[in-house]
Amino acid sequence: MDHILTVNNLNVTYINNDRRVMAVRDVSFSIDKGDSLGIVGESGSGKSTMAMALLRLHPKGTEISGEAMFEGKNLLTISNEEMNELRWTKIAVVFQKAMNSLSAVHRISEQIEDIYRVHCPQATSAEIKEKALELLKLVNLPDRAYHLYPHEMSGGMLQRVAIAISLLHSPQLLIFDEATTALDVVTQGQILSEIVEMEKTLSTTRMMITHDMSVVATTCNKVAVMYAGELMEFGLVKEVLTHPHHPYTKGLQASFPSLKGEKKTLTSIPGFLPDLSKECKGCVFAPRCSYATERCRKQRPPMIKISDTSAVACWLCEGEKNEK
Ligand code: SF4
Repeated sequence: MDHILTVNNLNVTYINNDRRVMAVRDVSFSIDKGDSLGIVGESGSGKSTMAMALLRLHPKGTEISGEAMFEGKNLLTISNEEMNELRWTKIAVVFQKAMNSLSAVHRISEQIEDIYRVHCPQATSAEIKEKALELLKLVNLPDRAYHLYPHEMSGGMLQRVAIAISLLHSPQLLIFDEATTALDVVTQGQILSEIVEMEKTLSTTRMMITHDMSVVATTCNKVAVMYAGELMEFGLVKEVLTHPHHPYTKGLQASFPSLKGEKKTLTSIPGFLPDLSKECKGCVFAPRCSYATERCRKQRPPMIKISDTSAVACWLCEGEKNEK
């Protein structure tokens, strides 16, 4: 399988006066063409920071190191012009409240035309309308939505418009950053089903950033579990969610209700995220882990490959298979 994106040793550090917050630390993974990778973890785990860094939308002054190879180009070092060209045409993103970025005083049609012409200035109104109606249909919106103003639409309809806009230039990689989190559960469920359905006709690869394990379980084939800016576990959803290895993945799973099977008592993970401005010597999860040993507190575990498709950053998995 071809990798569409390969991230190697990504580090993202926010600088605020003398304070350095290491929001993403030494993260490496790859996505294959056609994959739907769920990036899951609690707030502050570095999921969105990572996506912002890959798209070069991070705040000014942020320090970034590592490599993110996409079509033979390192997204972290290409020129701003190349990045502007690639963003939306090859890699598109839908944010949590993307609907809020729509102008209240212009019809959807005008906004779609403006956005489309940024990358295709020669396109005619008729061509753009044809493409837009096709995409609105794909996200289950009627043709009339094209002529409406944002205030005439519900939150769910607007987020569907945002998804349709992200698809205007047929990007190869689509990033959903908590794109359905702000919606009610019914609308969220509908949009998630539509996303999975539309991927049957589009050849996109998806990165789904979420704090919700059930979103990963229902819409992704691979999962990357992040905690405090680091990757804890990576693998196929069917493997990781049925047999999680990392204590943090197990804790996350125990804190969400099961969609199927017996009812269970939900348990939360005790403690809080560490202060990311402080250097962490050993395993970043050690202060909250009931299995932590002296070694865990002193030595950071590497990603240990435990099958052809999965890897875990935990000393408990040492010996299960060779290090990655
Ligand atoms: Fe827990 Fe140690 Fe594994 Fe970290 S390395 S998750 S502290 S057992």
